[in-house]
Amino acid sequence: MDKIYLDNAATTPLSEEVIDAMVGIMKTNFGNPSSTHSFGQEAKILLENVRRQIADYLHVTPAEIIFTSCGTESNNMIIKSCVEHLGIERIISSPLEHKCVSESILEMKNRKGVEVNYIRPDEKGDIDLSKLEELLKASDKKTLVSLMHANNEIGNIMDIKKAAEICKAHNALFHSDTVQTMAHMDLDFSDVAVDFASCSAHKFHGPKGVGFAFIRKSTGLKGIITGGPQERSLRAGTENVAGIAGLGKALELSLDNMEVYAGHIQEIKDYAIERLSMDIPGIKFNGRSAQKNSLYTVLSALLPYKNPLIGLQLDMKGIAISQGSACSSGASKPSMVMMMVLSEDEMDSCTPLRISFSHLTTKEDIDALVNALKEISDDLVIEKTNAEHR
Ligand code: PLP
Repeated sequence: MDKIYLDNAATTPLSEEVIDAMVGIMKTNFGNPSSTHSFGQEAKILLENVRRQIADYLHVTPAEIIFTSCGTESNNMIIKSCVEHLGIERIISSPLEHKCVSESILEMKNRKGVEVNYIRPDEKGDIDLSKLEELLKASDKKTLVSLMHANNEIGNIMDIKKAAEICKAHNALFHSDTVQTMAHMDLDFSDVAVDFASCSAHKFHGPKGVGFAFIRKSTGLKGIITGGPQERSLRAGTENVAGIAGLGKALELSLDNMEVYAGHIQEIKDYAIERLSMDIPGIKFNGRSAQKNSLYTVLSALLPYKNPLIGLQLDMKGIAISQGSACSSGASKPSMVMMMVLSEDEMDSCTPLRISFSHLTTKEDIDALVNALKEISDDLVIEKTNAEHR
């Protein structure tokens, strides 16, 4: 059975070119970038080239890019260091954030007594930025605002340029979790006044275990992992040289092909919306995910029946898909994001399904998903009819 992968918001398959680049580096460039001899310097040059490449993409300076192990580490570092080192007394965020952001904020509330204000999204999952302005006006406390760029479950995109302008106007620092948009969209941080952002290579066909944090120099943020002077003393520990080479190659491929990939994926997403709407009566789409102004890689569907086993049943039919984000899909209760966008009735009687695409996804993959869903719902109807006659 050929397996079908529709969980690209959780992670993406590594590109062949990325694997080749990493293997090449592992074989030939094993030096420690902090060593002063030629082996070390060769590794250091590689790191600095990738750092420059990222900085060019984001229109920032290379010194503002700090390599980390993943998106989770970048977000933890930014939020915790803002409290530990920059005197942040209040954080404004929303219930839509990824757990690595929401748990970091909660930890700062519990351990450091930071005040936390949440902006509740509307039923479409949008954040009303006038509420951000109201909250900022209401207090003089030193504030960090943490609002994600694109939501990993429903694909809503937030206007980070406008959010950043509001934060600047009120002297607040602004962090945006950009893990789902880095390398998928053009980002220009010379025009968007965001102070901190995050990236994870495995979301765009790079390796796991490597990412970076964007830290605007003017903020003076310090690191939280102490040790050697790596990464301008902001993140101690020998860098993952092969991983960073893989990140660089994956970024290069994504940027070179962005228009083509985005066009293809949007076409696949439109096809999925059309086929699902036609073949699964009563299906709905959550948040803004079925609209053109959403993240093109994510479609959040709501099946018109309750079936907590849907992920398992699809997996048995060779289709890998998740019901929410990868870190909450194993949990039995609905995710916070779903609680925000679904009514109680929908939560009791429907099943969310997150379909997420890459440039490798085909229309045949979508046909297979639709057919599998039809088989599963037909089985449900037969079971229900049998139960009624028993
Ligand atoms: N932020 C968002 C929006 C994500 O989707 C993810 C991963 O699912 C992360 C952060 C965490 O990234 P990583 O898996 O690199 O720790």
